[in-house]
Amino acid sequence: TGYETGWNFDNSYAALPEMLFNRMNPVSVRAPRLAIVNEPLASSLGLNLEYLHSSDGLAVLAGNSIPEGASPLAQAYAGHQFGSFNMLGDGRALLLGEQITPAGERLDIQLKGSGRTPYSRGGDGRAALGPMLREYIISEAMYGLGIPTTRSLAVVDTGQVVTRESDLPGAILTRVAASHLRVGTFQYAAKWGTIEDLRALADYTLHRHYPEAKAEQHRYLALLQAVLKAQASLIAKWQLVGFVHGVMNTDNITLSGETIDYGPCAFIDTYDTGTVFSSIDSGGRYAFGNQPNIAAWDLSRLAEALLPLLHDDENQAITLAEEAIAQFPVYFEQHFFSGMRAKLGLFNEEHEDEALIEDLLGMMQKHGADYTNTFLALTYDKPEDTVLSGTTAFTEWLERWNTRKSRQQESDAASQQLMRKSNPAVIPRNHRVEEALEAAVTQGDYTKMTELMVALSDPYAHTAEQAEYSTPAVPSERPFRTYC
Ligand code: AMP
Ligand code: MG
Ligand code: MG
Repeated sequence: TGYETGWNFDNSYAALPEMLFNRMNPVSVRAPRLAIVNEPLASSLGLNLEYLHSSDGLAVLAGNSIPEGASPLAQAYAGHQFGSFNMLGDGRALLLGEQITPAGERLDIQLKGSGRTPYSRGGDGRAALGPMLREYIISEAMYGLGIPTTRSLAVVDTGQVVTRESDLPGAILTRVAASHLRVGTFQYAAKWGTIEDLRALADYTLHRHYPEAKAEQHRYLALLQAVLKAQASLIAKWQLVGFVHGVMNTDNITLSGETIDYGPCAFIDTYDTGTVFSSIDSGGRYAFGNQPNIAAWDLSRLAEALLPLLHDDENQAITLAEEAIAQFPVYFEQHFFSGMRAKLGLFNEEHEDEALIEDLLGMMQKHGADYTNTFLALTYDKPEDTVLSGTTAFTEWLERWNTRKSRQQESDAASQQLMRKSNPAVIPRNHRVEEALEAAVTQGDYTKMTELMVALSDPYAHTAEQAEYSTPAVPSERPFRTYC
């Protein structure tokens, strides 16, 4: 009232076959309070900041009022959770609509923690403040690192309690995404829809994310290939920064190639491919080093769902799908090794680079080196700062690396510059994230969280403030654990 809100909704998802969603409004909350709002993101969405901070803005972020032009709905999807297939869907989230930004982008605006839906199964439809603030921190950290991700517009404290192991403050996160199309959305349409439903979903995805593939003769094969490439690039970026997603179920793998669902995720400190943070991943299915394999497994489920669209003859469809999936490790390795070359200040490509990279990682694994700090030590030309220092293997490795660098045309200064923009000075280390969350949730003190987020917003700046965040946690008896 008195000002433009800036909401500019379109609702293309609501025009898809009705089996794919359920229209409904959020469940109101009693005493909402704005916990945190992402002003740069709000501005890029075209939202009026004064409005967002007003009671009208708060009412929307809390699910107590529906902004003009929105058409809220819960999306249906299925998913393989730790390998078992289930019917899922938005059990505690609602898509308000798609915001068309001033730059002409189409972005999903979703409330997470907005109450029960027909897909809630046994759940209460709600979320707790700690985990929503955690998603806010980590998703924005990923954005700062240059990794495709859903983003966080705001967190509202609902003023209501959610009951988990204990009573916790409730919260709603406003999530912004290129879309919420998941592998599980296709599994759902393939299992319970008609071929027309599946085709409508595939055409929609092509139109929204891969318009260039739409023009190809085998457009659904082109869709599968485009998603394989986007996901291979994404997972390589995770590996390059030491991000462990923790719950790579097929409902948490996007068609857009964005990271989604920040539940049990965390960053590694010590380099160990076996790292698992999630309390429920006892088999290590989603361990750090297994992420590329499991992504290929998840994308095979997408290929299966697409089979009826790939070819009229099922055997030929299977052959096309298998050939496409077989390319995933090839795409992944291209992205991974080119990213690793940049981390080591290498511009061109040589045959022995892979061995150089693998030997370094092997030493880091053997000696339990801090992943981020090892690359920083190399970046700052202080190899003596790593735990590898003093070993013959590392001395020999440094010699190989230096010889390798001397063979490239670019100057040492250029090489160091490349390393500075490829090796983050700061990652969201678990003990710093926990410390910030503790102060925010138990004391309502957001100072630490705000400071941490400033450091994380441009991790390649290498400022003095950021250096303060590079200290690893003091080793504790109990390994760091995350919970969904
Ligand atoms: P996730 O493990 O976060 O991918 O969630 C798996 C499924 O559980 C999704 O369908 C969620 O919407 C649903 N879910 C998670 N938490 C809740 C909750 N508190 N209430 C209802 N549904 C939930
Ligand atoms: Mg999920
Ligand atoms: Mg989740």
